[in-house]
Amino acid sequence: MDRLTYTILDIATIITKHALLRNENDCIRYLIYDSRKVNDPKHSLFFALKGNKDGHSFVDVVYNLGVRNFVVADGFVPVRDYIDANFLYVEDTLAALQTLAKYHRKQFNYPVIAITGSNGKTVVKEWLNQLLAIDFNIVRSPKSYNSQIGVALSLWQLSADNNLAIIEAGISKVGEMDKLREMIQPTVGILTNIGPAHSDGFRSTEEKIVEKLKLFKEADRLIYSPKYIPSMLISEGPQLFTWGFEETDLKVLRKEQDKGFLTIYAEFKKNEISIEIPFNDDASVENAIICWSVMLSMNYSQEIIQKRMKALLSVEMRLELKNGINNCSIIDDSYSCDIASLTIALNFLQQQNQHKKRTLILSDIPGIEKDKASIYETVALLLKSNSIDGLIGIGQDISSFSGLFSKSAIFYNSTAEFIKALPGMNFYDETILLKGARSFYFEKISKLLTLKTHDTSLEINLNALEYNLNYYKRKLDNQTKLMVMVKAFSYGSGSFEIANLLQFNRVDYLAVAYPDEGIALRVSGIKLPIMVMSPDLLSFDAIIDNHLEPEIFSLDLLRSLIVLLEDRGIKEYPIHIKVETGMHRLGFDTQDFNELIEIVLTNNSVKVASVFSHLAASGSPKHDDFTREQITKLKIFTTKLKEVLPYSFFVHISNTAAIERWPEARFDMVRLGIGLYGVGSVNEGSLLETVAILRTSISQIKQIKEGDTVGYNRNGILKDGGTIATVKIGYADGYSRRFGNGVGKLLVQGRLVPTVGDICMDMCMVDVTDLPVKVGDEVIVFGKTPSIESLAASIDTIPYEIMTGISQRVKRIYFYE
Ligand SMILES: *Cc1c(COP(=O)(O)O)cnc(C)c1O
Repeated sequence: MDRLTYTILDIATIITKHALLRNENDCIRYLIYDSRKVNDPKHSLFFALKGNKDGHSFVDVVYNLGVRNFVVADGFVPVRDYIDANFLYVEDTLAALQTLAKYHRKQFNYPVIAITGSNGKTVVKEWLNQLLAIDFNIVRSPKSYNSQIGVALSLWQLSADNNLAIIEAGISKVGEMDKLREMIQPTVGILTNIGPAHSDGFRSTEEKIVEKLKLFKEADRLIYSPKYIPSMLISEGPQLFTWGFEETDLKVLRKEQDKGFLTIYAEFKKNEISIEIPFNDDASVENAIICWSVMLSMNYSQEIIQKRMKALLSVEMRLELKNGINNCSIIDDSYSCDIASLTIALNFLQQQNQHKKRTLILSDIPGIEKDKASIYETVALLLKSNSIDGLIGIGQDISSFSGLFSKSAIFYNSTAEFIKALPGMNFYDETILLKGARSFYFEKISKLLTLKTHDTSLEINLNALEYNLNYYKRKLDNQTKLMVMVKAFSYGSGSFEIANLLQFNRVDYLAVAYPDEGIALRVSGIKLPIMVMSPDLLSFDAIIDNHLEPEIFSLDLLRSLIVLLEDRGIKEYPIHIKVETGMHRLGFDTQDFNELIEIVLTNNSVKVASVFSHLAASGSPKHDDFTREQITKLKIFTTKLKEVLPYSFFVHISNTAAIERWPEARFDMVRLGIGLYGVGSVNEGSLLETVAILRTSISQIKQIKEGDTVGYNRNGILKDGGTIATVKIGYADGYSRRFGNGVGKLLVQGRLVPTVGDICMDMCMVDVTDLPVKVGDEVIVFGKTPSIESLAASIDTIPYEIMTGISQRVKRIYFYE
């Protein structure tokens, strides 16, 4: 590929005066910062960034993977001599990464479009790519890489072969945009829109607008709508292209829906013009108008614009993990196909441990003719470093490079050819990644490989889960360990799917309620230590066979475990001692203390890994004195135990609410539960991201006359008649009967509508009077709105019960953006 090549010496010259170079000709192609995402160690430069975990503590790990080039902070002392590695010392490693990105960007003088705004950045970027790709060789941000790090990595992809770049910029607080602007140096700016001010790091909407506009200070042209920016905030500089419903360059007049297409009419240079798009939701309309403005400002003819707009495809940036046929897991990422997103998808595939075998079904990767060899060489390298067992290549390009791949790889010229061969193929107990360009219609393959899904599904947003995990990690200091509660099917949200992500994110411990849950995780390849909270005599063998660590809460239990361990000749088996401090559920009482000590001291078949207790009311201020007492009791117990035990053990008592409210009770470890799943304990609920969305759909619509009744026992009545929709969720799915007769509200077309009548086993009815609904329309049972918390409150229960009550027949779909 015709990209600039940098040696480590070149990079040293750009970012620092202080370098320790052993091999100054090492050639650098990849910038990495995550030790879990190393694909080509020889050509990678590792930046030790200070994130949730300090990157410096991973230098050794990365070195062992074969990386020899490092950017570290001044004063960093490696744990040992790496005599064949190069070290560049800088004041601030993130700033150094940005300096390099900025330098690289400066080497090119083709247009760079920068997009910012509260929503729609990624869609506008992807649509512009669809609309302009015929005329330009575009380089763009992968997925929604738009952060301080993401922008730098996006810019690093620029090459001399491109002639247009489209880069997303996202900020979350004041002061960040200047850094992004200096890196991107945009020539064209797009501001998509401005959302509500709260929920992020800005005091007001105005402050947010001012910050966002900093991106465009030196741009030649800015495309925006005055609807979002008061004119006084627009500074001089860029030439402006405005759109909106008032007097603007592109003045939107009206919309008309006709079958599958929506026509948008507008006035431009005194003429009425229009586009047709295959979407009709408000967000898509705005995004399309923005793209239209961009094309008009580039002097595209209306004829070309119309033709291309009509062919716009939906942008599905998310990758989904679903259950497949024959006990397979399917990772469906079949809407885009380029090296950057392939790398991301392979990393996700790598996180999956539930099946030994990993297969990739990959289409041609669109690109320019002369680059093809290098594209497929990179693919071959990626497959090798990600230990992919099987490759199925679909398309003429990838087939023509079959020589680059392992002998066992299979190739087909087209999706149709593959589908024809599918009945004879034996996919069984493996994880299959589907990665195909839009023109290959991999959704057809996806349909054939995934299990039929019942319309109702619980969608789990893995990014949000990761976000919440990091929210709590940031609260802990480096010493405090983190145990995550994955009992009750991870509070209803999944088993190995969640555990894989937690393992990948290096939490220290998992905890489950029953041995079966722990065994299921082991079978799925989870290697983390797992505590089992409710073990019993009969399950000890299975616990030991699966390296699970029992909670021990009574002398009887302890004695019988010891008998078994002695029988099997096992020494120092890890156990967790549960202490009674006020919950009055499970745990050793004070009077057991001496006997407990005696057993533990005189017996080497067990080893105390931790001593812990559980708080009864950590989230509730009115019980704070009681909580303080519980903490003290545990302290007294563990202090005494520390005095006599010849080895150390962890102490822990904090659940989610206590992590937030009782910093003094963090001890050696905390046990994170509900917060991970996006339900906050105290007031931080709004700082967490929504993890679970329960979606279903409308199966029939009926007109109800005055006097008609709806559902069992004729409890449902619409006084003046109206319209009801029958929705595919009932109490057997976990939508409690208590939500009947208007107590429950579901989201239909952005509006909360009440239930009518009793909730049935598999269905319920809602009032959709005056809403233009049709059969098949989506219904949200919970998500951002209505929230799980509000559902719980309306039937006088707690979020825990709502979450764990969603029945197993509701399919779980995991996605990653
Ligand atoms: C469930 C559980 C937790 C987690 O509680 P959250 O309130 O969900 O954070 C912690 N410790 C024990 C012993 C538990 O059973």
